[in-house]
Amino acid sequence: MKYNKIVLKLSGEALLDKKEAGIDATRLAFYADEIANALSLGVSIAMVIGGGNIYRGAQTTGLELPRLQGDYMGMLATAINGVALQSTLAKKGVPTRLMSRLAVEQVCEPYLPRHANKHLEKGRLVIIVGGLGRPYFTTDSAASLVAIELGADVLLKGTRVNGVYTDDPLRNSAAVQLPKLTFKEAYEQKLRVMDMTAFTLCEENNLPMVVFDANQPGHLCRLLRGECIGTVISAG
Ligand code: UDP
Repeated sequence: MKYNKIVLKLSGEALLDKKEAGIDATRLAFYADEIANALSLGVSIAMVIGGGNIYRGAQTTGLELPRLQGDYMGMLATAINGVALQSTLAKKGVPTRLMSRLAVEQVCEPYLPRHANKHLEKGRLVIIVGGLGRPYFTTDSAASLVAIELGADVLLKGTRVNGVYTDDPLRNSAAVQLPKLTFKEAYEQKLRVMDMTAFTLCEENNLPMVVFDANQPGHLCRLLRGECIGTVISAG
């Protein structure tokens, strides 16, 4: 196996499919299958899930709530997604623990790296919600920090396109996919991989990341086995 311990970041949007908001049942079942298959390879997996399918503090328009309150709503949205994912995996018999940095104790254990690592050692999937538990951050930053704290080999960022491109491939058909990048190149070429806080955390802690299309069946397992899928970003 190329990677033995991973943090997988899935955005809330990944759960949307063609819906405008909420959780698509087919997508949810699809990700649960992908994750269950990856776990069966013996890989330790911690997941960080976003909440953008339900509420995104900085960007959701219409309500005009203050940023602070909006961000807490966004963090709570990640917990909703986490419960949905955990329940779906539990139905499949996958041992899963839901942990949070935001206190929602009736649904999630508090996230502590030492406890999360204990769960991973026992072969359980750990789903971490609540972002960093603080406004003005994102779940990408939470995923970077979790990967560093847990000593993961890599941070995998599942998206709807196969990695990092020279431009947005959904808008520009001439955009070219880049199989490999250094942190420095991504920064210099202003390629949007993650927000800067998340990106800098990975760079400073020498944590490689892979951006890949998580909507392709089997991609996650193939990536874990060492196939060149998506874009690898590392110190070089
Ligand atoms: N959020 C926050 N602090 C965090 C993580 C998330 O305030 O540490 C809020 C923020 O409003 C964000 C929303 O939760 O817009 C949903 O998270 P994110 O946008 O990262 O979700 P994704 O885009 O991955 O679905």
